[in-house]
Amino acid sequence: MSTDRPQQSVWDGPLVDRFGRVHRDLRISLTDKCNLRCTYCMPAEGLPWLAKEQLLTTDEIERVARVLARLGITEIRLTGGEPLIRRDIVDVVRRLSAIEGAEGPLEVSMTTNGIRLDRVMDQLKEAGLTRLNISLDTVNPERFAQLTRREKFSAVQAGLAAAQASGLRPLKLNAVAMRGINDDEFCELLRFAMAHDAELRFIEQMPLDAGHIWSRHTMVPGSEVLEKLRAEFTLEPVGERGSSPAEVFRVNGGESTVGVIASVTAPFCGACDRVRLTADGQLRNCLFAREESDLLTLLRSGGTDEDLAVMIRASIAAKRPGHGIDDPGFLQPDRPMSAIGG
Ligand code: SAM
Repeated sequence: MSTDRPQQSVWDGPLVDRFGRVHRDLRISLTDKCNLRCTYCMPAEGLPWLAKEQLLTTDEIERVARVLARLGITEIRLTGGEPLIRRDIVDVVRRLSAIEGAEGPLEVSMTTNGIRLDRVMDQLKEAGLTRLNISLDTVNPERFAQLTRREKFSAVQAGLAAAQASGLRPLKLNAVAMRGINDDEFCELLRFAMAHDAELRFIEQMPLDAGHIWSRHTMVPGSEVLEKLRAEFTLEPVGERGSSPAEVFRVNGGESTVGVIASVTAPFCGACDRVRLTADGQLRNCLFAREESDLLTLLRSGGTDEDLAVMIRASIAAKRPGHGIDDPGFLQPDRPMSAIGG
C-alpha cells in the first residue's frame, strides 16, 4: 500500500516562514530615483541609477503582484525612490487595485514625499488608492531646504493639502528622528500633524544610508522621542499592535494618535508580515536582507507563475528571525533605503 500523500500544490497554504510568520504585506519600489536628496539618505549628486531596461515594466509588476496575491498578500504599499516620479503611476495603482486577493481587492497605499501629489491626487483616488503616508522630517522651510537639498517645501505642502482634501484616512506623516537636525521640533511636528488631520509616526534612523555613516550613538531612540513629546502632551498607549511597526499613543485623550517606529531599539521582527519587491525585480524578505531573489530574470526567461511562486516561497522560507542590527557580525545591506524601497 502506498503511503504517499497527495502532492501539495505551490498555491496551497499561506505564505509562511519557518517561524510561523504569515506574509500579507507587499512593498513595491517603483523606482530608485528621487526628486529630493535628503542628506541622511542620498548623496548630493544622487546614486548610479538603474537603467530603464532593468526596471520592472508595469505588466511585470502586475504579474508578480497577482502571483503574490494568490499566495496570500492582501496589501500593497508603493514606495521608492519617489513613486510619484513614475509616469504611469495612476495606471499602476489602477491595475494593482483591481487584483483580487483572499480578502477582496488588494488594498493599495503609497509612501511619498508629497511632491507632485497635488497634480495626481484625484486620479490616484479614482484609480483605487486607499491610503497615503507622506514623509516630512521638518516643518521649518529653511531646514527642509538644507535637509533635502531642494527648495520644495511649498510643493510638499500643496501635496499634503491635496491629501487632506482627498478624504483618504488615516493620512499619515512620517518623520525620521535625527539628533541635531529635528530633535528640537518633535512637539511642533506633532502639532502640525494634528492641525492637518494626520497621524504622525516618528521613525528611528536605521543603518540604511548610502554613505554608511549611521551611528547607534547619535541616533535618537524612540524612548527619547516619547520623553520629549510628554513635555507637552499626554500620551496613552493604544491597544493591540498586531503586525504594525508602530507603537501608537492617543494624544491628550482625544482622537489624534502619534506613533514611534523603534526598529533599532525595540525591533518588531517577530510579527513581521512584510516582503519587498525592488524596482529591478528582486524580492527581499527583509529590509536588511543581504540576499535577494531574482524574479526579474525568471520573468524574462519564460518562467511560469508556478516558477515565480516557488521562488517567492523559497525566499520567505529563508527569512531570518530578525534583522540582526544588534548582532556583532551585522553588515549593512549593500543597497541603500532609496534602492530597496522604504
Ligand atoms: N520618497 C518616498 C518618501 O519620501 O516617503 C518613499 C521612499 S523613502 C526612502 C521612505 C521613507 O524612508 C521616508 O520616510 C524616509 O524618510 C525614510 N528613510 C530613509 N532613510 C532612512 C533611514 N536610514 N532610517 C529610517 N528611515 C529612513
